[in-house]
Amino acid sequence: MRLRCIVPVLFLFLTVGCFAQSAPTRPAPGFSLDTIDKTINPCVDFYQYACGNWIKNSEIPPDQSQWVSFVELHERNLDVEHGILEKAAAGGSSRNGVDQRIGDLYGSCMDEKAVDTKGIAPLKPELDRVAAVQDKGALMDELAHLYLVGGASLFSFYSASDLHNADQVIAYIDQGGLSLPDRDYYIKDDNPKMKEMRQHLVEYVTQTFTLAGQTPQQAADSAQVVLRIETALAKASMDRTARRDPKNRDHKMSRDEAVALGPNFYLNRYFTAVGAPNFSQLNVTNPDFFKQVNSVLESESLDSLKTYVSWHVLNAAAPWLSQPFVDANFKFQQNLTGQKEIQARWKRCVNLTDRELGEALGQRYVDATFGPEGKQRMLKMVDALEKSLAENVHGLSWMSDETKKQAKVKLDAIRNKIGYPDVYRDYSAVVVKNDDLLGNIARANAFESKRDIAKIDKPLDRKEWGMTPPTVNAYYSGSFNEIVFPAGILQPPFFDKTMDDAVNFGGIGLVIGHELTHGFDDQGRKFDPQGNLHDWWTEQDGKEFEKRVSCVADEYSNFVAVDDLKLNGRLTLGENTADNGGARIALMALEHMIADDKTGKEGRNIDGYTPEQRFFLGFARVWCEKRRPEVARLRVLTDPHSPGQYRVDGVVQNMPEFQKAWGCKAGQPMVAENACHVW
Ligand SMILES: [Zn+2]
Repeated sequence: MRLRCIVPVLFLFLTVGCFAQSAPTRPAPGFSLDTIDKTINPCVDFYQYACGNWIKNSEIPPDQSQWVSFVELHERNLDVEHGILEKAAAGGSSRNGVDQRIGDLYGSCMDEKAVDTKGIAPLKPELDRVAAVQDKGALMDELAHLYLVGGASLFSFYSASDLHNADQVIAYIDQGGLSLPDRDYYIKDDNPKMKEMRQHLVEYVTQTFTLAGQTPQQAADSAQVVLRIETALAKASMDRTARRDPKNRDHKMSRDEAVALGPNFYLNRYFTAVGAPNFSQLNVTNPDFFKQVNSVLESESLDSLKTYVSWHVLNAAAPWLSQPFVDANFKFQQNLTGQKEIQARWKRCVNLTDRELGEALGQRYVDATFGPEGKQRMLKMVDALEKSLAENVHGLSWMSDETKKQAKVKLDAIRNKIGYPDVYRDYSAVVVKNDDLLGNIARANAFESKRDIAKIDKPLDRKEWGMTPPTVNAYYSGSFNEIVFPAGILQPPFFDKTMDDAVNFGGIGLVIGHELTHGFDDQGRKFDPQGNLHDWWTEQDGKEFEKRVSCVADEYSNFVAVDDLKLNGRLTLGENTADNGGARIALMALEHMIADDKTGKEGRNIDGYTPEQRFFLGFARVWCEKRRPEVARLRVLTDPHSPGQYRVDGVVQNMPEFQKAWGCKAGQPMVAENACHVW
């Protein structure tokens, strides 16, 4: 499932959230005028004005790579989940199945002493299986097994909606198999940071193979093999920006055609070994990858390929093995993120439980935190935002009536999901033991992989969620044509029932507007109301749209993220378009609420600020942010979202509504000379 989120999910990046009953120990990162730096002119740099004091007074905790409301909320949610899991782990025989599974997974993870005593022993059977492989065809059987239990490599396999018939789920194969977060790390030679990161990878692989029993020389040789094979995979991979265009990922073909792309992948053998249904068609996201890597599989020896596969087995398990493996893995991550200290073990174990049994833990989280009142208020806001977007589309000067009519049909078809799924995933088939961490992870992974494969050639289950309930995030899905808001994000500073509507419309209102706008950004506009890749635009309107988004791409390409590194305006185009459109329609919705309010309460000033000013302050508060330079660099390369500063300033400088609210004049930095306006 391709999700369009408001914040990236990098590494173990989760959430927090709470509405009512249970009081977390950490204070909520709410809206407050204390974050404002009044020495700054809001028309010169609104982000610095709104967040200046927050930036001065905030420190990135040593176990974080960045500090921003999403992460603050995630930390609070961890506290809530921590309480739930400690109780479930201690519960004993009176527990029901849900509590037994989440409690024992968490408990097996928290038993650090047992994990350390076992060392690499729990992984040994998997490594032995790889070592026993006798030929390249059998290696594909082994890859299929690893796909099921976790530790897949070389390429990826999954199920998703058919791009041309969203109601039908089909099989996909895709590029994959890298240890570094992007292909550029392997192939960019003009950037010394990329070369450094390759060296860090080599050190990490060497250290890990040494811990696993190889001599230092063998391990160093193994690391060179891994780097060589991954570099070949990287060269065959499509870059992130090109992948944003769904048309570049649209290559449905027969099974025979896919097999013929790369005979050395033994795909028929692989599909049988994973237990896939006997499908006849699939989408090959990047056919060139399979063509090119086919010759890599030819030229590399069986031993080298086994080394590469063993590495991925080790790398996937490293965070859950004994301390030396955990340390090696963390040291490698540190180079990418700048994080100073590893997170406390309980945090890692809570995140693991969310990853492996997310809707079971999520169910308990929702019971503890999310009341029915939250859902009702959200539904009202979603309704208000949808009305504003309809009005916005209706009033566009650049779009013909014909396309407007189609846009309205798509908008009316957007569904929404709020809080948590109607039906939680049933994990009763997963055997969880209180003394078998690696086995628990393998069994939970196998459950999830099999569940995913079983969807192939079946109708799309529109009830499914792509995020767990405690996640501090939201998404739009093109094939589902829906917007989704997990319970985790429905709390301050996004949504605060003690705050005025202006602040909430700047927070969660803008998030709703952002997700709705994704349905009409440079990717979303290519999908029709049913979620199919189908052009519903007139040619002229399509051209007008492209002209307008180019303005946004150019604007953000000029923003500097860190040192001399500028943003990639094309990689971040969809998110920036959604931020700009979301802000406009959220403000429109607020204006309607003020106009409709006979009591005059909505239109009053609070603490010296007008509702419009409080709307923009509420918006900026969500994005007050500090990042370590390492993670700032990583994000420029991999993250389709802009840094907080530009999510705020990049938007307000395009908005006459902002300039009016703050009395800004032409020539000031927050008044763009050539303001961009798509939606
Ligand atoms: Zn987004």
